[in-house]
Amino acid sequence: MKWWGWGDPAVEATLDDEALGVLRERIGELEPWPLARSLEEFELPAAEALPQALVEAVGEGNVFTADEDRLRHATGRGYADLVRMRSGALAAAPDAVVVPPNAEVLQRVIDVCAADGVAIVPFGGGTSVVGGLEPLRGGHGRLISLDLGAMRDAEVDKTSLTARLGAGLRGPEAEAALGREGLTLGHFPQSFEYATIGGFAATRSAGQASSGYGRFDELVTSVRLLAPAGGISTLQTPHTAAGPALRELVIGSEGVLGVIPEVTVRMRPAPTTRRYEAWMAESFEAGAEIVRALAQGPGLPEIIRVSDEEETAGTLALSGPRGAAGSLFSRYLGLRGRREGALMIVGYEGDEESTARRRALSVRALRDGGAAYLGQAAGRSWEHGRFQGPYLRDTLMAMGAMVETLETSHTWSRFAELHDAVGRAIRETLDGQGTPGLVFCHLSHAYADGASLYFTFISRARRGAELEQWAAVKHAASEAIVAHGGTITHHHAIGRDHAPYMEAEVGQTGLDVLRAVKAQLDPAGIMNPGKLLPAE
Ligand SMILES: Cc1cc2nc3c(=O)[nH]c(=O)nc-3n(C[C@H](O)[C@H](O)[C@H](O)COP(=O)(O)OP(=O)(O)OC[C@H]3O[C@@H](n4cnc5c(N)ncnc54)[C@H](O)[C@@H]3O)c2cc1C
Repeated sequence: MKWWGWGDPAVEATLDDEALGVLRERIGELEPWPLARSLEEFELPAAEALPQALVEAVGEGNVFTADEDRLRHATGRGYADLVRMRSGALAAAPDAVVVPPNAEVLQRVIDVCAADGVAIVPFGGGTSVVGGLEPLRGGHGRLISLDLGAMRDAEVDKTSLTARLGAGLRGPEAEAALGREGLTLGHFPQSFEYATIGGFAATRSAGQASSGYGRFDELVTSVRLLAPAGGISTLQTPHTAAGPALRELVIGSEGVLGVIPEVTVRMRPAPTTRRYEAWMAESFEAGAEIVRALAQGPGLPEIIRVSDEEETAGTLALSGPRGAAGSLFSRYLGLRGRREGALMIVGYEGDEESTARRRALSVRALRDGGAAYLGQAAGRSWEHGRFQGPYLRDTLMAMGAMVETLETSHTWSRFAELHDAVGRAIRETLDGQGTPGLVFCHLSHAYADGASLYFTFISRARRGAELEQWAAVKHAASEAIVAHGGTITHHHAIGRDHAPYMEAEVGQTGLDVLRAVKAQLDPAGIMNPGKLLPAE
């Protein structure tokens, strides 16, 4: 992973002249934004020495104190994180990176940290976009980043179609282990290349195919949590009626209750047929209605996305109207005498028979809803580029742009209202900052009762005030979400950035319950301070 951005340093996303022209026209001239310092010159605060008992507990070879290790574990990969990386200095970093080789050593590390007052930030793939990895000490003098990267066992139960997966397995590693047995998890978030099994569980992640395969929390059948006050292991059984589910308490706990060393997940046979195609709905509203009809009727394809009109036009302009989707879109508009539409991506995965059967049902709903078929080439082009977005963000930031995403969800009856309100809040705040922008949105996870909304905004970065500019937009969007009854996060989690909105989400008594659970499992408050729960 690039230390200052996303992904493989050898991969660079580029925009052609036509796309650059469109961008300039919409957001104005950009001023190049180089990195302020090299990796070697990067400035970190001095590290505190770790207690000797901690080094002994994990073994000296598993403790890393070089500045590069500390830097690489000091942030996630949200826009605000990348702004700080570009600035060449960080105000806070872990004192050391500790890599336990197994669960027994991990528990010993937690015990020593609890006894000596050392804060722990669990670290999976480092892809949090909500400040979940921020090295906040919570009043403790020392802080370690606890990297789960060595815990990568995979044990498959082919009879039950379940697998016990180590927290540190990255998305591709987990899929490869299951793929060898002809199985898949079907969990493909855009951060798939780097994010880990433990991170997926700790943040209730949702993938691009979650409408069909289920979100990660739905795939988890049992969990283990190691905490300062002891551990929790839930029973490995398909279902239990034994009271409120502790499994639910551990999933989404974001490292504040303890560390998840492994989870057991449900799997499916790997698909033998994959078919991705593009459709054009008459409007975002019409596309959402089609998705609602499918979710409440014959069922959803594995992948279903609807881009709003601005995202449709913007995506096609930035990816070049010369591409397959672009030329089909122009033809569609010409034939229908229309000026805009809403691009839909629909993907089916499974065996040939079930894919064809489910496609026939979806096609009927798509046609009934007035959508026009654009073909498989445009669908395949989406599939090909499905993990490219974050690479393009690096390119745009280097050109001088702010690029950020945020997400929410709501019931169908208030879906359009939330889409309008959040989009307006982002647009008005960008305008107010003198940096008008592109504001895109798509529906990407659907249910019988509602769906998620995923916003992307791109504008000129206000150089010298990048974080203030970002915070203003984030605040306005979050307030709009809460005011309209949406969730502050459908799948990015709470971290530090969304913690102030937890009371709106769960209420004061709900917060008290969560705080009581934390006090029970982590009485010294060493686990990921300042995340999930707002300051009292
Ligand atoms: C470009 C990009 C695209 C993204 N796309 C998606 C997407 O499509 N869907 C989605 O859901 N999310 C997405 N995310 C957000 C992020 O990838 C997810 O939240 C992911 O689940 C985090 O996994 P990770 O292994 O990187 O965890 P980290 O970022 O390392 O950690 C996330 C949080 O979980 C805690 N944690 C991590 N591992 C453990 C553990 N084993 N035990 C206890 N706590 C732990 C950390 O302390 C932190 O608070 C995206 C992020 C980026 C940068």
